[in-house]
Amino acid sequence: MSEPIAHEVEGGNECEHVLIHISEYLDSEMTPEDEQRMRAHLAHCSPCLAELSAEEIIKNLVRRTCTERAPEALRARIHAQLTVMTSGD
Ligand SMILES: [Zn+2]
Repeated sequence: MSEPIAHEVEGGNECEHVLIHISEYLDSEMTPEDEQRMRAHLAHCSPCLAELSAEEIIKNLVRRTCTERAPEALRARIHAQLTVMTSGD
């Protein structure tokens, strides 16, 4: 399930890197180097942090309810709430 992470991306693509590997990060499937890189980016990028938080919340909800995946409506609502919370920055 975890694919090798390409390291040739430019600095401007850090957000993309985070978004692509969010689930690996949450599942602790990343190498320590990639996890460190992810953390470093999340420390100063609130959109990515919001995205990560939303994914984590959804993941926990799904795990608790034993459904295969979160309903799109729920997913959208969590995303919207987190976006509002972090946009005032
Ligand atoms: Zn970012």
